[in-house]
Amino acid sequence: MARSLDSATREALAERMRFYRELGLTDFYRRPADAIVDSAASIPQAEAADGLDAEDHATVPAETAQAARATEPQTNFFGEEPTIKTRKGFHAPEMGAAVPVEERAAALEAIREDLGPCTRCALHKGRNTIVFGVGNAAARLMFVGEGPGADEDAQGLPFVGRAGQLLNNMIAAMGLKREECYIANVVKCRPPGNRTPEPDEANTCSPFLFRQIDVVRPQVLVALGATAATYLLGARQPLAALRGRIHAFRGASLIVTYHPAFLLRDPRQKKEAWADLQIAMKELGLRKAGNKE
Ligand code: URA
Repeated sequence: MARSLDSATREALAERMRFYRELGLTDFYRRPADAIVDSAASIPQAEAADGLDAEDHATVPAETAQAARATEPQTNFFGEEPTIKTRKGFHAPEMGAAVPVEERAAALEAIREDLGPCTRCALHKGRNTIVFGVGNAAARLMFVGEGPGADEDAQGLPFVGRAGQLLNNMIAAMGLKREECYIANVVKCRPPGNRTPEPDEANTCSPFLFRQIDVVRPQVLVALGATAATYLLGARQPLAALRGRIHAFRGASLIVTYHPAFLLRDPRQKKEAWADLQIAMKELGLRKAGNKE
């Protein structure tokens, strides 16, 4: 019989899966259901997974995914596959015509009105607030995350929790203010337990994001994490294959870096993220702090 996890453990497992995805570990195997139930019994707590060393990565994600599946077989907690599935049948909308700078705020407001009290996908059922996006309607730099978490769902604003604090620090390190940037997510409603948005959810929601991008027309777009990169670029690739270079995307230079939530878990990667942000800074003509050239 299926066991159920308490919500804190479910959230910790979802976070852990996100962490592995950010590391580029995307392929997990699945044992038959009876074997899964056995292994679930031997997975004690999410805290145990938190204590893992890097060397454990190859084996534990599969166990973690199995535990979640075994205990929540009736839900879509991690989806049919605990990876970002290839998007089938999705065609990004044609790029919209340029909107004059002084009309961009109103154009974003019109998109928000089109979105309305959205019930287009199942995510609306669990949300508190739609998190549309925030910032300068004519920003040169735009950030795209995965989807709202609990803090964002409560406040209706993207990146206002701990990951948001780190994002603010990243923006400040670039010599910019948060208000100068535009910040949005692939999906505008919080996925249950902070799980990864499903392709049908991302496919339904991202046309609104694409419209926001077309209105803001950022010079540089930073995708925060593999999920944002995948759903923007439309191709499933590990983060390592996407970082460190510029992708042409809807008139912007798209740069892919780690999600701030991942950096909170593994601060050693901040150096790598900073290298990515320096690509963005170069594109924007921003100088490194202390560099007078
Ligand atoms: N993580 C995201 O991807 N987006 C947010 O808005 C907050 C956390």
